[in-house]
Amino acid sequence: MKIALLSRNRKLYSSRRIIEAAEKAGHKVVVIDVLRAYMNVVSHKPSIHYKGQDLTGFDAVIPRIGASVTHYGTAVLRQFEMMGVVSLNESVAITRSRDKLRSLQLLSRKGIGMPLTGYASKPDDIKDVIKMVGGAPLVIKLLQGTQGIGVVLAETQKAAESVIEGFMGVHADILIQEFIKEAGGSDIRCFVIDGKVAAAMKRQGAEGEFRSNLHRGGSSSLIKITPEERSTAVRASQIMGLNVAGVDLLRSNHGPVVMEVNSSPGLEGIEGATGKDIAGMIIDNLEKLQPGKTRTRGHG
Ligand code: ADP
Repeated sequence: MKIALLSRNRKLYSSRRIIEAAEKAGHKVVVIDVLRAYMNVVSHKPSIHYKGQDLTGFDAVIPRIGASVTHYGTAVLRQFEMMGVVSLNESVAITRSRDKLRSLQLLSRKGIGMPLTGYASKPDDIKDVIKMVGGAPLVIKLLQGTQGIGVVLAETQKAAESVIEGFMGVHADILIQEFIKEAGGSDIRCFVIDGKVAAAMKRQGAEGEFRSNLHRGGSSSLIKITPEERSTAVRASQIMGLNVAGVDLLRSNHGPVVMEVNSSPGLEGIEGATGKDIAGMIIDNLEKLQPGKTRTRGHG
């Protein structure tokens, strides 16, 4: 197969591993920086140009689109889809999962457990929103944040009010969430491929840190997940329409709750913690996908 890897940096661990696994399986990989791709949107013959060349003859595309370029990156991916090229994860599914509020609404509609979550846009309603999610302690999250940046724990009602007021004062979009204290600063990353949890790891925040992000000094280790956690992760990725996903769960008193479904989960942490060849499994799965048999077609 001729595979387009949409990545802004071929040197990143995940990109390197995907290229390695694809080449090992006999495929050819072309790395494409989406910001250098440009398109014509016409009826009948959509095409993509890249640094002056027509991008043709691709069989499959692997999107690894960074959060900051989601809008343009998914437009390029959509163009590939319009040209009949099969994608590991489709543009609609990526767009859904990148919008924290939208994805939580989709998950709640299907009865997936999640932390009690509130959303408001005007400071006048802060007190009532805090009440709706059960009062302090609360976690307040910037909708645009990644890697734990913009995730704040407010221990008291007063702290929560002033943090929310502060974010709203600069017109930031936020979520207000029940604090799952019993998770003890750890979460579980389930790596889902084609309806199965291919690997799982526990991430533990550094001493005194409630955020378990590896970028914030957290550490990862192997974990055995329960059947309920397994089915929650699989269902969450299916609801998003993602073929490959990193589903982040917290162990709460009321069962597993989903925090986030990631459409470009990193490979370094999970391959390091589990010793599994996740990149190889992704390529095996890509080989089985067929264009036109999309799960997300026609669904916003
Ligand atoms: P990001 O997408 O920026 O990583 P997350 O929503 O995943 O933000 O939050 C970062 C970390 O903070 C999580 O991995 C988890 O350890 C912790 N965390 C987030 N939400 C909650 C919550 N409601 N209760 C307890 N811990 C939380």
